[in-house]
Order: sequence, then C-alpha cells, then structure tokens
Amino acid sequence: MSKQELRRQVVIIGSGPAGLTAAIYAARANLNPLVLEGRQPGGQLSTTTLVENFPGFPDGIDGPQLILNMHAQAEKFGARFSYAEVTDFDMTNKHVRVKADDEWLDTQALIIAAGASARYLGLDDEEKLIGHGLTSCATCDGAFYRHVPVAVVGGGDSAAEESLFLTRFASKVYLIHRRDQMRASKIMQERVFDHKKIEPIWDTVVTKYIPDEKGEMRAVRLRNVKTNDERELEVACVFVAIGHDPNTKAYQGKLETDPDGYLIARHMVESKHPGVFIAGDVADRVYKQAVTAAGSGCAAAMEAEKYLSELESRG
Ligand code: NAP
Repeated sequence: MSKQELRRQVVIIGSGPAGLTAAIYAARANLNPLVLEGRQPGGQLSTTTLVENFPGFPDGIDGPQLILNMHAQAEKFGARFSYAEVTDFDMTNKHVRVKADDEWLDTQALIIAAGASARYLGLDDEEKLIGHGLTSCATCDGAFYRHVPVAVVGGGDSAAEESLFLTRFASKVYLIHRRDQMRASKIMQERVFDHKKIEPIWDTVVTKYIPDEKGEMRAVRLRNVKTNDERELEVACVFVAIGHDPNTKAYQGKLETDPDGYLIARHMVESKHPGVFIAGDVADRVYKQAVTAAGSGCAAAMEAEKYLSELESRG
C-alpha cells in the first residue's frame, strides 16, 4: 500500500457480495473506496458453484463469475483493491484505524463486510488432514477425487449443493447428517434424493478421521446417534458443510457481538461507533444469502455517505 493510500474516506473490509456492493455504491458516490479483500477474495461465492437465486440471472450464474462481475463493476467506478488482511482495529482516534498487513490505515468511514469462514468438526488431526482428504470446498477440491467414494457432512443447502456437485467426479457420495431430516430447501432435497450416486446416512456423526500411512484420508468412524452403533466407512475425502463462523476476531471486545461472535448491527448496518458500518454475513445469522448481503452492502455505503456528508457540513 502506498503512503497516499494510508488515509481514506471509506475502507471496506471484505470482497464478497456485501463488500463489493458497498464498493460499487461508495465509488459511484465519489468516496474513493479501498477494498481490503483479505485472504479469500470474493468470499464464499468464490468457492460455490451455480447460483440460481440471485435476481437477474434466470439461468443461474457461477458464483466466481458473479463475483468477477461485481468486482469489475466496482472497479469501473473507481474502487481500489488490496489483498491485505485486517488483523486489528482501533477506534480511539478521531478517525477509525485498521491494521492491514502490519500497516495501520486511517479512514473516516469503515464498512466491515468480512464475511464468514467454514466451520469444521473439531476432531483430532483436523488441521493436519485439511488438504489431505479433508476440505470445506467441493468446488476447489472435488475434481481431485474421481472414481472414489467421498463423504459430505451436513444437512443444509451447502451440503446438498456440494453433494450434487461431487457426483460429477466421485463414484459415490455419502451424505452424513446428524438428524433424519435435511434443513436444505425442498428443491435441493429433491435433487439429492433423486440422485443415484448420493446415499444419505441419517442420524449419524463422524467421530474420527482415519488416515492411511501417507497421512491421506482413508476412512471415517461413524456413530449412529440413536442406536450408538459405530462403524467405519471408507472414503477418500470428507467435505465438511456444517455452516460458517463470522470473521470478527479483530473486532471482539471493541464492537458489540452476540455470544457466537456475530457483530450486532442497529438499523440494519450501524455499529455503536459512528463511522463504522456493518454488512453481510458478519452480522447475519439468519438469511446468509448473496442477495441479502448485497442489500446490506448497499445500505452500509449509503449510510457511510450520509455520515461523511454530515461530518463535512459540521466542518
Ligand atoms: P446451515 O443451513 O446452517 O446448515 C448447516 C448444517 O450442518 C445443518 O444441517 C446442521 O445440522 C449441520 N451441522 C451444524 N453443526 C454441525 C456439527 N457440529 N456436526 C454435524 N452437523 C452439523 O449452513 P449452510 O448449508 O452452509 O447454509 C447457510 C446459508 O446459506 C443457508 O441460509 C442456506 O440456505 C444458504 N445457502 C444457499 C444455497 C443455495 O440456495 N443455492 C447454497 C448454499 C447455502 P442441523 O440441521 O441438525 O442443525
């Protein structure tokens, strides 16, 4: 980051649909926004497949393409981008400051749209196995597992979507869910149940990962939560799709959060600190849709613009 970028009118943290929509609106309002994209540019949409429910695309659009379109739209109006990762945040000065890649950056308004990260099961050897037969991203890793059995853990739309995607490669997809009913939308459930390659395993949890001698996933230990029966299931990869945690570590103790770490927003996008706005999955434990994230990104940018005009008129 160059020195002249150290002070900005608007800094936006995150480049998913919330951050990019905020960038489009802020750039069109001549606020010269800088988007700190972080380590996963594009957020969760960049690791998803076909998005069928974003308005305006009757045939659906690939998640990464939707992100590229939003990125190009924000850039067209003058938004700037940096891959810097925000690790700290400070509001004691007149201007808000964020620490991005070891450099403190002053800004008059901040929009936190840092999104959420995939949750894992918390079993032994998890860290070691990620990338060796354990992942949360079928789009990224699915093609490595051709003609072998794989497992997906979860019962939501993500688990359904990942299972369906994996049928393109795997010989068999076991869908392991802790209950006997999915919470995924009906249309996704129907597609899962209609697919010959997908076998749901109900009322079951994974209790252990079993790697081979090279440290690659070979099997999982399963327990039926109703009968307590245990068994081993041979799978070459486990795709965990059990939801996400908000990326709010840098703001804990500084902004209001709920017990699960979600930022608390008032009037949709306002934090308790003037000039700091919140958008997307960092504050949304209910809807978590690309379109709701985009909507709150728009509202955050409009509120930031209003805040900056008031600041200017006060001198
Ligand atoms: P989700 O809806 O929260 O589902 C998480 C699933 O994981 C639930 O079935 C849950 O079980 C299970 N689970 C949670 N913790 C677990 C644990 N420790 N062990 C085992 N299972 C566990 O998350 P999501 O599927 O990622 O979806 C998030 C949001 O994005 C939803 O609003 C969804 O509609 C949306 N989404 C939409 C699409 C689409 O429309 N194409 C695609 C992906 C996601 P229980 O059911 O028992 O709680």
